[in-house]
Amino acid sequence: MANDQMVILGGGLAGATAAKTLRTEGFEGPVTLVGAENRTPYIRPPLSKELLLGKADADSALVVPDNWYADNDVELLLGSPASRVDPDAHVVTLAGGRRLHYSKLLLATGARPRTIALEGADLEGVMTFRTLDDSLKLTALLKGGGRKVVMIGSGWIGMELAAAARTYGNEVTLLGLEEIPLSAAIGYELGRYFQRVHEEQGVSFRLPASAAAIDGQDGRATAVRTTAGETLPADVVIIAVGVVPDTTLAEAAGLALRNGIPVDAGLRTSAPDILAAGDVANALHPFTGEHHRSEHWANALNGGKVAAQSMLGLDARLDVVPYFYTDQFSVSMEYSGFPSLTSGIVPVIRGSLDEGSFIAFWLRENNVVAGMSVNKRRVQKAIKALISARVPVNEAKLRDPGVPLDSLLPA
Ligand SMILES: Cc1cc2nc3c(=O)[nH]c(=O)nc-3n(C[C@H](O)[C@H](O)[C@H](O)COP(=O)(O)OP(=O)(O)OC[C@H]3O[C@@H](n4cnc5c(N)ncnc54)[C@H](O)[C@@H]3O)c2cc1C
Repeated sequence: MANDQMVILGGGLAGATAAKTLRTEGFEGPVTLVGAENRTPYIRPPLSKELLLGKADADSALVVPDNWYADNDVELLLGSPASRVDPDAHVVTLAGGRRLHYSKLLLATGARPRTIALEGADLEGVMTFRTLDDSLKLTALLKGGGRKVVMIGSGWIGMELAAAARTYGNEVTLLGLEEIPLSAAIGYELGRYFQRVHEEQGVSFRLPASAAAIDGQDGRATAVRTTAGETLPADVVIIAVGVVPDTTLAEAAGLALRNGIPVDAGLRTSAPDILAAGDVANALHPFTGEHHRSEHWANALNGGKVAAQSMLGLDARLDVVPYFYTDQFSVSMEYSGFPSLTSGIVPVIRGSLDEGSFIAFWLRENNVVAGMSVNKRRVQKAIKALISARVPVNEAKLRDPGVPLDSLLPA
């Protein structure tokens, strides 16, 4: 094992966590972490929140401090994307031509923003949003306020960016394909709740509507024309229409693909000695017996750990209840559970949407399969325990804030 060569492709949270876990598990052999971005691995959630709002600096987003890699003898190759994986020869080739032999390889290449074919998308002032550089660029554009911002896309990232843009005093209009933002993810009632929070802060919505074209003058964006025939003046246009898993390397290497890279619960791909974790991995979850591809922070963190343990031959499985969070204006939301099990289910609400402090539970056959808390601290542990317990719960008790959640768990 000490002579094994561990190679990790992708310098995001999943990749860096895997490198860290290899060391904390006691692996002393060579570890190489290859990152396409010329940045020490960082986490992305602050990019659209604290960092964008100037409440935190870039160093606070690092997965581990800069010096950790050298101190722990992890070779960090930044700004050097891998261009090819040869599964038979167990060799990775980097864009600069360097070849790396691996005993075990982790693909943690994440996801990249989905692009849409839109006239004017290449004008100055139009951008997608994924990286630290995007966050720094957008901060500079927004922070003086007074700009006209059009957001194309009303998903989690679009809503967070809209909140930040508005907080700086910009005029913000959000276009979305759904009649109610986020309704595909959390249903109409809760989607409407988020929409109301934004409207109360002065964000305008055009729903359902999409962009037909972006107009410009002298190479700069000036307006967005919508499919409803409206022309919205714009200095800044953000295209936030979701992400696609970055399977470029996996596809060229002949790995099986299905909504990302399908992996078992130990995050092993169809190719011997190649694993995948984070946004790119579509992992079999022991709880549902189905594959899930999650585009959330906790999945990259937990997946990075499990992948490293599997690389070391340990019996590890990614079996935690999925979790994510978002902050928009004064709303702090956390969600645990399986979104794929909630479709068509009207959530049970504990607390008050009007007062902006509540928990929404999704039940299937009286079992909790997901729970979303808004402005409630320290309830996610109990929500995860309720989901994991797989026991029927009394709906009236679940609704009643006077009944402690822990008391609904089996003794
Ligand atoms: C703005 C923003 C806000 C977010 N907010 C939240 C939030 O509030 N809560 C939440 O739960 N989740 C949030 N997320 C999602 C979360 O950040 C992702 O799920 C997480 O970043 C996934 O980590 P990853 O390591 O799998 O992939 P990534 O973070 O995408 O990292 C993959 C890395 O691999 C690199 N790469 C790609 N190809 C190659 C190659 N060929 N060679 C070398 N390197 C390569 C990429 O450049 C990238 O740096 C947010 C995401 C964004 C963009």
